[in-house]
Amino acid sequence: MKVAVIGGGIVGWTSARALRAAGHDVVLVDRAGAPAAGASGQNGAQLSYGFVAPLASAAIPAQIPKLLFSADSPFRMRPGLSLDTWRWCLQFLAACTHQQSERTTRALLALAHESHTHFTQWRNGLDAGVDIEHAQRGKLVLHRDQASLDAAGRQVALQAGVGPAQELVDAARCRALEPALTDGKPLVGGVWTPSEEVADCAKVCAALADELARDGRTEVRWSHQVAGWDTAGGQVRALLARHQGRLERIDADAFVIAAGAQTPTVTKGLGVHVPVQPLKGYSIDVPADAVRGMPQVSVTDTSVKTVFAPLGDGPARRLRVAGFAELVGNDLHIPPDRIARLLGTVEDVFGLRAQPKDVRPWAGLRPATPTGLPCIGRTRRHPNVYVNSGQGALGFTLAFGSAELLAAEVAGRPRALGREDGFRAGLAPLAGV
Ligand SMILES: Cc1cc2nc3c(=O)[nH]c(=O)nc-3n(C[C@H](O)[C@H](O)[C@H](O)COP(=O)(O)OP(=O)(O)OC[C@H]3O[C@@H](n4cnc5c(N)ncnc54)[C@H](O)[C@@H]3O)c2cc1C
Repeated sequence: MKVAVIGGGIVGWTSARALRAAGHDVVLVDRAGAPAAGASGQNGAQLSYGFVAPLASAAIPAQIPKLLFSADSPFRMRPGLSLDTWRWCLQFLAACTHQQSERTTRALLALAHESHTHFTQWRNGLDAGVDIEHAQRGKLVLHRDQASLDAAGRQVALQAGVGPAQELVDAARCRALEPALTDGKPLVGGVWTPSEEVADCAKVCAALADELARDGRTEVRWSHQVAGWDTAGGQVRALLARHQGRLERIDADAFVIAAGAQTPTVTKGLGVHVPVQPLKGYSIDVPADAVRGMPQVSVTDTSVKTVFAPLGDGPARRLRVAGFAELVGNDLHIPPDRIARLLGTVEDVFGLRAQPKDVRPWAGLRPATPTGLPCIGRTRRHPNVYVNSGQGALGFTLAFGSAELLAAEVAGRPRALGREDGFRAGLAPLAGV
């Protein structure tokens, strides 16, 4: 069977790989000219298999005034949002319950485990010369007030025996685990997960693209923007892509839409609603020689919702810093104050030796669902159209497992995580279409 995969981010490339492994021919279509042009480009680099609790938690409703109106909030919402975005916000609020958040956590821990297994198998088979900047550094999540640490303790207890081993640690142990932490800000403790990993997501995408290019049965159509469909007779026969001012037709037997935050735009033409909204974030790469205390482990500071990942070696050694969550539509503009604040967190948490000249400011759109559960499966309206999207803040972590679920669905096999995993819930036909 020939399968068209729309999207050349981490979810599209891992989907293409899993489909090739199942024996299908693949044509991958992307509007950009190279892999990882979207959210997979310069994300936080965390392979965070133990920290999958969704943004929609029971604690969020009480925090809304602070999140919306505090000057130093990592969250921002643009006034004048679309009806779809408001609908998403209501669904998000409805998901802010203990019950839903626990259900999501359990489903994502299982998916993360599956992902870890398949990522490791793939990584172990990489040619010696391929560098994806992978390291198992462990992850230390810092809590700077007691209420936050208590909530983290409850989460560790909930996940005990289900996810990777985690340890609740006091401030002294945090500093022993990561001596580079400054003592400028109060610290009450943290959660230490020694098994967590980091890698450069764009390099993983490039390695997957190279691997598939070599096998000769994956065709790639760069600079092709999907703009329509041929649905003659109720069956989807082809996608229509805009390329150099012309509309080109790409025929396939099945279609997988893995277009990240743009997934709803692509599925709309098929009358399929996918509850994904772009949740904007930013990142910078700070050269290691500009950081006073370059960390050895991956660190998250929950007080500023910022992640820090040490990446690379030699002259390429750097600290990837990522944060912010903004509901502002598809706007990829990078305001200088966001970058200054990310750099400010480096100063606060590790210290800066010098103001770095170039920190490679970057913005990306997380494909976020209200519950935090991705949408993976066959659409109800079109039996040969599938979606693999909505991995939100965890797309890099969950991609390899999501691709396995997708491939099982295309093959009509029972999915490894069972039928009750909830990942299909978002694939509804558009109301009234
Ligand atoms: C600041 C930030 C930090 C993050 N940190 C982490 C992290 O540390 N760990 C983690 O696991 N995840 C992280 N994430 C989330 C992760 O980056 C995303 O979930 C993941 O990259 C989504 O991958 P994707 O392939 O679904 O989407 P994308 O990478 O956005 O790819 C979608 C592709 O579809 C293409 N496309 C869109 N529309 C069309 C069209 N009409 N026609 C053709 N092609 C189209 C785009 O060009 C793009 O290449 C972070 C995200 C952000 C923004």
